[in-house]
Amino acid sequence: MNQNHLVAQIAIPRPLPSLLTYSLPDGQTLAPGIRTVVPLGKQQVVGMVIKTETWEEPTDNAFALKPITATLDQLPLPDTHLLELLQWATRYYHHPPGEVIFNALPVALRKPKPLSSRMQKLLLPAAQKPTAIAVPESVFPLTNEQEQCLLSIQQWNQHKKPYPVLLHGITGSGKTEIYLRLIAPLVTAGQQALVIVPEIGLTPQLLLRFRQFFGTLPLVCLHSGLSDGERLQAWLQARSGQARIIIGTRSAIFTPAPQLGLIVIDEEHDTSLKQQEGFRYHGRDLAIKRAQMLGIPIILGSATPALETLYNAQAGRFHYIRLNQRPGATLTPELQIQDTRPFELQAGLTPASLQAIRQTLARGEQAMVFLNRRGFAPALFCPACGWQASCKHCSVNMTWHARRNKLVCHHCGAEQATPAQCPTCHNPKLTTQGQGTERLELSLQSTFPEFQVVRIDRDTTSRKGELEDKLATVRGNEPLILVGTQMLAKGHDFPNLTLVVILDIDHSLLSTDYRALERLGQLLVQVAGRAGRAQKPGKVILQTSQPDNPLLHQLIGHGYTPFARQLLEDRKRWHFPPFGHQALIRASSTASMEKALQFLERVSQLLTGTDVSGVQRLGPIPAPVEKRANRYRAQLLLTSRQRARLHTALQHLLHAEGNIPGRSSVRWSVDVDPIDF
Ligand code: ADP
Ligand code: ZN
Ligand code: ZN
Repeated sequence: MNQNHLVAQIAIPRPLPSLLTYSLPDGQTLAPGIRTVVPLGKQQVVGMVIKTETWEEPTDNAFALKPITATLDQLPLPDTHLLELLQWATRYYHHPPGEVIFNALPVALRKPKPLSSRMQKLLLPAAQKPTAIAVPESVFPLTNEQEQCLLSIQQWNQHKKPYPVLLHGITGSGKTEIYLRLIAPLVTAGQQALVIVPEIGLTPQLLLRFRQFFGTLPLVCLHSGLSDGERLQAWLQARSGQARIIIGTRSAIFTPAPQLGLIVIDEEHDTSLKQQEGFRYHGRDLAIKRAQMLGIPIILGSATPALETLYNAQAGRFHYIRLNQRPGATLTPELQIQDTRPFELQAGLTPASLQAIRQTLARGEQAMVFLNRRGFAPALFCPACGWQASCKHCSVNMTWHARRNKLVCHHCGAEQATPAQCPTCHNPKLTTQGQGTERLELSLQSTFPEFQVVRIDRDTTSRKGELEDKLATVRGNEPLILVGTQMLAKGHDFPNLTLVVILDIDHSLLSTDYRALERLGQLLVQVAGRAGRAQKPGKVILQTSQPDNPLLHQLIGHGYTPFARQLLEDRKRWHFPPFGHQALIRASSTASMEKALQFLERVSQLLTGTDVSGVQRLGPIPAPVEKRANRYRAQLLLTSRQRARLHTALQHLLHAEGNIPGRSSVRWSVDVDPIDF
C-alpha cells in the first residue's frame, strides 16, 4: 500500500468503541454520509463513511487494511451537520459511534442494500417552489396575551445565535397556536420546521390542526404506525427539502432537513423524550444542541416545564415567556384536596368525590377518574397462608386482569392463568388487594348504571382505531364517566369534561426517588388541565391520605412554578441535577445478583485507582426492580458537580472495560443524565 493512500473511517452498526478504517480503491474518494458494504470478519456488513483521510502509516505495516466491498449510495444520506451532531452525541452519551449513527437512520437504511430507484429520485434536492405559497389564514385572532408572546419570540429569534425559548403556558392557553404562527412565515419562505411531540398516537388532534392550518403545504409525520418504506419515504422527503414541516416523536430529531429554520419541542418535560434502552439519548437535549449548532431558534413548550429547563431559564440561558390565560375566557379549574382517611371508600372514591360525579352527570357533563394503574388489582393473594401471585421472571407481583381472567406481569409481559385455588395451601378463596382501572370501571358502572363508562388505557386501546373510537365517544359530549391512566394526561381536549378526580397519588408523595415529586406535580397539572376546556368551569379533586403534605399544598395553592422552585431548592441542597450531574452504570446477569454487583464493584474500583477526582460513586446496589425478565439487575451511580469530570471518568471506564474480569458474563450500559432508576 502506498503512502498517501486514501482510507475511509467507517461506522458500522455494532457495539464497537470506535470507527473502523478501510482502504479505498486508488483515486476514489467518498463523501461522509455515504453507505458502503464492508467486510467484518467473515461477514459483509453495512457501513457509513464518516470521513476519508490519507493513510499515514509506514508502507511496510504488517497490518494490511481491508478494502471496502461496494458503495451503496451516490449521494450522502445524512448531511455533514447531522453527522456532526451524531458524533457529538456519541461523545456525550459514551455510546458506540456505529450504533448511534445507525440508530438515527430509518430501519430501511440499516441493511447493506442500495435504495430502490424510486427512493433514489427522492435524494435529489427539491426544486425550490416560488414563495407563491400563501401564508395560511388563521381561524381566529390571537388574544392579546398570545399576540405579545408571538411578538417577543419572533424578536428573540431574530438574533444571529438565538437562545432557546421556554414557552411556559398553562394547558389550553394556546401554545399550539403560537407554534403554528411561528412556523407559517418560515415555511412559506422555503424553510423547514421540525416539531417534536411525545406520542402522536395519543394526540391525533395536534396533527389534525397542523394539517388544517397548513393545507396543501408538504408535511410529513414520522410516527410508529408507519411501515419501514413509508418512514424512509418521509425521511427522504425531509432530506430533499420537499417536506416543509416534519412532525415526529423523539427519534425525528435525527431527520435531515437542509433548510431547517426552527425546532419546536412540545411537552418538553415529557419523559418519553428520553430513550430508555440502547442509545439512551434525550430528544430535547439533542434538539437544543442541534439548534445551537445551526444557529436556529428552538421553542420548548410546556404547561409544566422540567426542572432542568426552568433552571436554565432562571439562569438566563433560555428566554422565558408565559401564557397564563385560556382563550375564550374559560376559567382555570378549582382544585381541592380530599382526605381519604376518615372515609370508607366506594370504588376507591370518597363520598364527596362520588357526590361530585353524580352532580356532574346530572348537569349533563362529563367526569373523569384518573388512576395510573391498569388491570383489576395489582395483587392476588391467599388470606390463609399469605401466598402472593408473583412473576416467575421478575421480582414483582403479577396484576390480575379480571375480564381475561389472567395474571399479567407489567414488567416483562408474562401471562398465566389465574389459579383456582392457592398453590400452597389449596385454599379456594383467593383475594385481591388494591385496584386498577379495570376494577374502577366495573364499580363505577354498577354505581352509575344509567351512564356510559369509557375506559382508556393500554388494555382497551391496543387494537387499531380503538383509541380514536373512544375519544370520539367522549367528544360526542354526552354525559359519561371517563376512566383512565396517564394516556389521558396528554393533550386531549374534551369540551364537556368538567370534573376530574385523581386517585392514588400517595405512592409518589412517599417515594424516595427524588424525581417522583416533579413527575407527580407535572401529572397533576396536566390531568387537571383536561377539565373545563370549553366555556364551563372545571373542578379537580385530589384524593390522598397525605393531605398535609406541604409540597402538595404549595402546588394546589400557588401553582406549578413556586412548587418547582421549591423542588429546585431541595435539589440544590443535595447537589442533584441540574446542580450536579449523573451517570448511571447498569449491569445485569442471568446467573445471580452477586455477579451483577461484583462487576459493578470492579467498575467502581477501576475508577478509584485513577486520578478521577470529584466524582462520587454511590453503590453498587440492586436496582429498584431487582429481577426483570430473568435478569438480576444492579446499578452504580456516578455523580459530580462538574460535568467534565464525569465525562473523564466514563472515558477512562470505557477505555479499560475490556480488562474487567467477569465482563463477558454480564450485560452492562452507561446512562448519561438518567431519569429512571
Ligand atoms: P395548548 O397547546 O396550550 O394546550 P391550544 O393551542 O391547544 O393550547 O389551545 C387550546 C384551545 O383553545 C384549542 O381548542 C384552540 O383552538 C383554542 N384557541 C387557541 N387560541 C385561540 C384564540 N386566540 N381564540 C380562540 N380560541 C383559541
Ligand atoms: Zn394459601
Ligand atoms: Zn415479569
